[in-house]
Amino acid sequence: MGRGKLIVVSGFSGAGKGSIMRELLKNHDNYVLSISMTTRAPREGEVHGREYFFVERAAFEEAIAQNGLLEHAEYIGHLYGTPRAYVEEQLREGKNVMLEIDVQGGMQIREKFPDSMLLFVVPPSAKVLKERLLGRNTENIEQVKRRLLRALDEAPYMEAYDYIVVNDDLEACVEEVHAVISGEKAIPEKDPAFIERFRDDLQKMLQKEGLLHLPTEE
Ligand code: 5GP
Repeated sequence: MGRGKLIVVSGFSGAGKGSIMRELLKNHDNYVLSISMTTRAPREGEVHGREYFFVERAAFEEAIAQNGLLEHAEYIGHLYGTPRAYVEEQLREGKNVMLEIDVQGGMQIREKFPDSMLLFVVPPSAKVLKERLLGRNTENIEQVKRRLLRALDEAPYMEAYDYIVVNDDLEACVEEVHAVISGEKAIPEKDPAFIERFRDDLQKMLQKEGLLHLPTEE
């Protein structure tokens, strides 16, 4: 059996990465999802060991010291990292391992695993991004604003990803992602005009709402 592929899935908070990955796991064999470690508090409904391993900062730092994380990064005041052992074991078993991580983590994985595949998920427009963040009711308005500002910081990294996946229709999007990963679709999809338009859109929207100078730390 060949080694599996390491797949990074990044994207703005609210782009729908979670839904895409859930559907992929449901519809196709041979995918597994890495569960990250984080110092942020669980949201309502989140379960330790399912969404994340929720730990104290000291335990996180110990994992770093033991070389137990493949990558780690700080995101809006909290630490997030990918536990190494599970990923390496699953790759050896021939599974495609998906990491849902931020752009800083994505860049670290690119460096350490040059043959990994990096996907960036975006909503069709800045307006839809805001609506989705507001609609999921897990963050208050201040947190939504911070996540939108964070999206603006992350936008330039889209250039470094192999594929940009627009999540408009979930089902179509899932099949597209599967086609890309399984190699049925060989041409990298990067559309510089889209990246620029999206970034401008987001910037204008945040400017209009007077949010551009909000601090991004919680
Ligand atoms: P959330 O708090 O919304 O669950 O996640 C915030 C951000 O952290 C998201 O962009 C998510 O992809 C990212 N993230 C989750 N786990 C990891 C990880 O293990 N490493 C890195 N670098 N980012 C992560």
